[in-house]
Amino acid sequence: MRGDLFVMTGASGVGKGTLRARLMERVKLHYSISMTTRPPREGERHGIDYWFVDEATFERTKREGGFLEYATYVDHSYGTPRAPVERALERGEDVLLEIEVQGALQVAEKMPEAQLIFVIPPSLSELRQRLLLRGKDTLEKIEKRLERAREEIALADRFHYVVVNDLLADAVADLERIIMARRRIVNRM
Ligand code: 5GP
Repeated sequence: MRGDLFVMTGASGVGKGTLRARLMERVKLHYSISMTTRPPREGERHGIDYWFVDEATFERTKREGGFLEYATYVDHSYGTPRAPVERALERGEDVLLEIEVQGALQVAEKMPEAQLIFVIPPSLSELRQRLLLRGKDTLEKIEKRLERAREEIALADRFHYVVVNDLLADAVADLERIIMARRRIVNRM
């Protein structure tokens, strides 16, 4: 039986990466490694966190129809390589994508059966705090990210599930329940 595709999305700073890591300790999922033109951050590894590529490689992959979806985010390109996702689904594995909102909406168009999960912060002021604490951005960039978060949250009703990332353990448990419930439905209980 074909696997399910779970797409987790949400604003920058909402904690998607941490949620993904915790979730994958608890549930067996094939994680789709994205391609990006962004340079690696300290500690990030090629082929594990991302496929780090140059602009030409990204453009070629795009032209050849190699992406399930792609988007630009803060000056860099990000895309989901199509073939590994298709192969894992064919093998019957459940696949997890962790991507930004525009990409998630493209997946929804192309694969209406995809399960779309939207992660929101408890509030925008909490999100501002998290972005400030992370200390990666200037105040101006933080305001831009918050503006984008506001626009993105307005799209939340296009998603099947909304998870509030207030207490991490609760949000991970919510995600686990979503996946386990889906597996029961697919296996007809
Ligand atoms: P970062 O540069 O912080 O790793 O990622 C920036 C944003 O790009 C995050 O919201 C992340 O979820 C998103 N992202 C990562 N990979 C992909 C991808 O393949 N496609 C899309 N559309 N967004 C991605």
